[in-house]
Amino acid sequence: MRWPSEEDLARARAELVAELRVKGIRDERVLAVMGKVPRHCFVLPEFLPAAYDDRPLPIGLGQTISQPYIVALSTEALALRGGEKVLEIGTGSGYQAAILAELAGEVFTVERLPELSWAAQERLRRLGYRNVRFRIGDGTKGWPEEAPFAAILVAAAAPRLPPSLFAQLGEAGRLVIPVGGRIHQDLWLVRKEGGRPVYQHLCPVAFVPLIGEEGFP
Ligand code: SAH
Repeated sequence: MRWPSEEDLARARAELVAELRVKGIRDERVLAVMGKVPRHCFVLPEFLPAAYDDRPLPIGLGQTISQPYIVALSTEALALRGGEKVLEIGTGSGYQAAILAELAGEVFTVERLPELSWAAQERLRRLGYRNVRFRIGDGTKGWPEEAPFAAILVAAAAPRLPPSLFAQLGEAGRLVIPVGGRIHQDLWLVRKEGGRPVYQHLCPVAFVPLIGEEGFP
């Protein structure tokens, strides 16, 4: 196999968008940013040929960049219209943060592993994203100084919805989170209505665990 050129990567990205459409992603704004953000800049060099496959890929330290379909589905569920304050837990490679930054006003992203956060910060700076703020620490506690958030995306699997995160969601806000065991979970959209959570099931998923005070030990 030939090492992919920029042209090959652009073609693969367009094919991925077509695949996401077939798999049921409908929001044209979400499809447009999936076709714009260069996922190949967020994967390890050895995975470049697989950068636009619809599957998660290792990013080091036992973590993964999420499957594009799950990124698109989660983003679509947040129903961003532009200008919102969004909180992401689990920066990882920074790919999901970049997708959110394209559609919202400001993105606040928390990662517990410093090396991953540093690499993501450098990557997003190089790609020109100015509306993403980073924090290193336990994201199960959220980012209380910046609350309330119109949308919250949890990119790691939790045993239950962390109360701190729900508390930092604004009224009528939307939160997406994988909830379940360490291996298998279900992705939920949680809306805050009259201060209470209203759950909508999205699909079964397999995320890496959310490790922290209100996550897994
Ligand atoms: N959104 C990422 C994928 C994240 S994978 C991307 O687009 O690449 C999940 C990430 O959550 C991992 O990097 C893991 O280290 C991080 N994580 C796990 N528990 C956490 C916690 N309590 N607070 C913040 N980050 C956490």
